Amino acid sequence: MNKNNQCPVCTKNSKYIFSKNWDGLSYNLYKCLNCGLGFISPLPSKQELTKFYHAQYYQGGNKLGYNAPYETLEQGLKKTYEGIIQKVQSLSGKKTFPLVLDVGCAYGYFLDCAKRCMNSSVRIGIDISDAAEKSITAKGHSFIKGGFEEAKIPNIAFDLIFMGDVFEHFLNPIAIMQRLDQFIKPGGIAVITTVDFSSLAAKILGKRWRLMTPPEHLFFWTPTSLKLLFQKYGWYGLTMPYTLYYPKEYVWTVFKKQFLFPPIFLKLFPFDTLPIPSYDVKLAIFWKVK
Ligand SMILES: [Zn+2]
Repeated sequence: MNKNNQCPVCTKNSKYIFSKNWDGLSYNLYKCLNCGLGFISPLPSKQELTKFYHAQYYQGGNKLGYNAPYETLEQGLKKTYEGIIQKVQSLSGKKTFPLVLDVGCAYGYFLDCAKRCMNSSVRIGIDISDAAEKSITAKGHSFIKGGFEEAKIPNIAFDLIFMGDVFEHFLNPIAIMQRLDQFIKPGGIAVITTVDFSSLAAKILGKRWRLMTPPEHLFFWTPTSLKLLFQKYGWYGLTMPYTLYYPKEYVWTVFKKQFLFPPIFLKLFPFDTLPIPSYDVKLAIFWKVK
């Protein structure tokens, strides 16, 4: 990041919004006056991040990170991913995506869906945590441990690269964009779910927003900032709302934590998995044009 806290995407000026503390450290949030991107400056060191991403992250043991053991979210996440895949298929007019890369693959649930719904034959997952490596490879997917920036990825031009809830975590989204550009096939598709800093929830809740969690999240994207970043590299696309599916108890916990009262109305729903509209996150689908 530069000294004047210029926006890393559009290079325009930003303003200081607030600081948020975690584990004795303070993180400053800036907002770009042009594209609305929120970003932490200065960024944490790699050592600080390694300390944060310990194995407990996926087990709900961290103050930030997931609020429940990740496996309990499997059914809901797969339903969410199936909905996303249907959107990609109808927008692209393609049903089959043979070569798929999942960046930040966790337990490989997206790769499971890619195998079943997109006929993907080469399915590679990358994650900085190897906690789920065994379960991923047991399902016939390939696993690479590391960050997307430096991981040794086979020299493949992928049909589709998925990044579910990771784009807000990266230390250097510009380097990530270059890697995406390097590993995609001409006409290939990047599918991203990420925070929406322009959402009403983000605006109203400010520092208390459930996704305002540095050093876990470092970049707070808006549809405009995402489009600007991809356009610079000759990609085009759009952002849109989508439906997320979560276990009822999980929705109850997250809601109570965010809004400070229990969501009694959930008792009206006779289902174990609930559809939740994406009120503070977005789905982005971008095409590499060439
Ligand atoms: Zn900007």
